[in-house]
Amino acid sequence: MAAPLRIGADRGNGGTINPVAGHITAAPSSPKERRVNYARQPETPALLSDEAIGALKRRIVTGELAPGAWVSEGDLTELLGMSKTPVREALAVLRRQGWITATPRSGYRIRSVTVRETRDLLDLQAVLEPMAAAKAAIGSQRYPGEVEKLAAFAVDSTGHTWANSDEILAHYRFHRRLTALGNNRELDLLLADLHLKLHQAFVIARKLDTTNLPDNTDHRRIVEAIARHDPEAARRAAAEHVTAIRTWLITALIDSDAVLDAGISGRSRSGFTKPRARSNPTGQGLR
Ligand SMILES: [Zn+2]
Repeated sequence: MAAPLRIGADRGNGGTINPVAGHITAAPSSPKERRVNYARQPETPALLSDEAIGALKRRIVTGELAPGAWVSEGDLTELLGMSKTPVREALAVLRRQGWITATPRSGYRIRSVTVRETRDLLDLQAVLEPMAAAKAAIGSQRYPGEVEKLAAFAVDSTGHTWANSDEILAHYRFHRRLTALGNNRELDLLLADLHLKLHQAFVIARKLDTTNLPDNTDHRRIVEAIARHDPEAARRAAAEHVTAIRTWLITALIDSDAVLDAGISGRSRSGFTKPRARSNPTGQGLR
């Protein structure tokens, strides 16, 4: 067997949200790793607009930019400390990817978290996540060194309940790492955006219901199946994980009468603002 190839970077290297699909972009690694790990390899050198996209997605996912909040291009250039051009380019991309909507004369509106959209995302996750885990179990035979790292990510994320951005990132990283092991670029792209949007819902749901929070012990079971190179067991463990998350998430969102189409009213620290009463970096919408 060929020497194990390393994909991705070592754990604990920090990470950012890749603007293209929301990948964690690893810290610079060796040329060999970069060749192998196509999924994390930017196709072009980092652009300011990419930076803006990553920064905005991070703020949306963590709720810093509240669901349903109205913002202007000016708000965001001030928030990010960037000039208009990269922010404008970033807004165009985020709009295409469904992170914001644009309304003439009213500005941009941050993606809402609704029960229906969350359910749609969970439906997709129920299909894709078990597939990713099964592919990872197969990929683990080719990249045995990666299983150990994935296990470390599982440990990192266990006990976390998306209480802060570090915990959100830990959960996200585990799933990104798992998908990368399956070595399917299209699946990786789909799941990257799916996970980010679901994480936005996690943060909201957690503010509404802190009972029965999934503690991510499922991650360890998934890794154990992957380590045995058992795709069916990995598939089952991932399906159970998705079901646990779905049960909590939907219950939390449905049980709360505070969930509006526009996002969360009255509970979020950064509630949404109405059209024409745009927020600013020190105001409600942007905090
Ligand atoms: Zn998970």
